[in-house]
Amino acid sequence: MATPPRPLPPGFLDHLAQRFGEACQTGEAIRAQHGASESQYATVLPDAAVFAGSTQDVVDCVNLCREGGVAIVPYGAGTSLEGHTLPLKGGVSLDLSRMDAVLSVNHADFDCTVQPGIRREALNAHLRDTGLFFPIDPGANATIGGMAATRASGTNAVRYGTMREAVLGLEVVTAQGKVIRTGRRAKKSAAGYDLTRLYIGSEGTLGVITGITLRLHPVPEAILAATCPFETLAGAVETVVQAFHCSVPMARIELLDAMQVRAVNLRSKLGLPEVPTLFFEFHGSAAGVAEQVETVKALAAANGGGEFQWATLAEDRNRLWRARHEAYYAAIALRPGAIGLTTDVCVPMSRLAECILATRAELDVCSVPATIVGHVGDGNFHLIFSIDPNAPEEMAEVEALNHRMVARALAMDGTCTGEHGIGIGKQQCLIDELGKDAVGVMRTIKQALDPDNLFNPGKIFRI
Ligand SMILES: Cc1cc2nc3c(=O)[nH]c(=O)nc-3n(C[C@H](O)[C@H](O)[C@H](O)COP(=O)(O)OP(=O)(O)OC[C@H]3O[C@@H](n4cnc5c(N)ncnc54)[C@H](O)[C@@H]3O)c2cc1C
Repeated sequence: MATPPRPLPPGFLDHLAQRFGEACQTGEAIRAQHGASESQYATVLPDAAVFAGSTQDVVDCVNLCREGGVAIVPYGAGTSLEGHTLPLKGGVSLDLSRMDAVLSVNHADFDCTVQPGIRREALNAHLRDTGLFFPIDPGANATIGGMAATRASGTNAVRYGTMREAVLGLEVVTAQGKVIRTGRRAKKSAAGYDLTRLYIGSEGTLGVITGITLRLHPVPEAILAATCPFETLAGAVETVVQAFHCSVPMARIELLDAMQVRAVNLRSKLGLPEVPTLFFEFHGSAAGVAEQVETVKALAAANGGGEFQWATLAEDRNRLWRARHEAYYAAIALRPGAIGLTTDVCVPMSRLAECILATRAELDVCSVPATIVGHVGDGNFHLIFSIDPNAPEEMAEVEALNHRMVARALAMDGTCTGEHGIGIGKQQCLIDELGKDAVGVMRTIKQALDPDNLFNPGKIFRI
């Protein structure tokens, strides 16, 4: 990780300032903000942060950087968890947050086109009166561009999919400064290579996303949220697996272990029993929701589930899901002064219970506190460790446990990352998961599209 930054060519920052004026910032505080990370990684400063206001700004920035051989790291909200936005080679942190317009909403076709810097909550606020919504909801209020670039998902993915399913097409600025479009608004297309899916999850290493056409969904007629406490973690997980086998079309099904419930109680004053708990949300017609609820209640009862607590009013539901989205900060707050590290394995549903219980057994003998929280309807769960930053032995213990977790998930034909991505933290895991030759194909694509390694160098794999 400690690769030296590239030296800037003479006059580069002056040229940048001439072109971008106040949108080019070189002050220490702004650079530190763009060089910091949400997770355990140390800050690395870019030479400048450039705030793009238009696609043409992005083109001009890319051209200046290419001519000078200067690295560019696209930057959305900076909430990624694997060191994705750290400018390892210095250069320009290209901040897209000012490109935050909704360009069109097509009610009849259930789609919209947005600029990359709009955040997911702002997009849903914009859509509020349309009867449509955008379902992908990572815990952080991320930008749509960042979410596309990390192939993000969230609590709704069990029903509505991830950014892979949500994006119909992109506008991208390439390393050559060309503006390309990868798809139109048609619901499906067989037009050549799937460039949209190539850029989704590329973590800013192949191009800068400057426009995104998204699928939207109608707000369901009936929405019902609930929590259900369980005697054991195994009972909660078994309920999820059985609901999956019964094809209950749940919109959300999330697991919190006892310590995570304690954390959200303290932060969000939920007053839930501090035992393993499932958070549910059901979408559909009133009759459809009632049917889903009956099935899930029966499954929960058979697996040691207690009384359901219902959230029918929108404000109660929002409070519940806000608490769930803030689980990461709630967990870290249990240990004042701690830094967070999140794991992210995802396994086939048939192996989920075994994977979570084996992980729980490891936590029982781990000296570093951690909670379990997960999008278990997808087979995806996280540990949130609260690590003492002054105790390197804690980081070493957690990293070793994380490696064993990844190895376990891979042995179950799962993945090292269900949603957070590779960044700098999971590069060896990627090789372990897909093999050297598959990563070699990724490297070949990177070298073809970005031969000078301008875009986010040092991420996903080394060149
Ligand atoms: C509390 C918390 C909870 C979270 N929960 C979830 C979760 O449930 N699910 C989940 O998937 N993730 C989750 N995350 C991780 C994070 O929110 C996602 O990775 C998110 O998609 C990052 O978006 P961002 O706008 O912050 O992007 P950034 O962090 O700014 O950037 C992420 C990557 O995308 C690239 N990038 C950004 N914008 C562009 C662009 N316009 N063009 C090209 N590349 C670009 C960057 O170079 C970088 O590599 C969570 C994070 C936190 C802190």
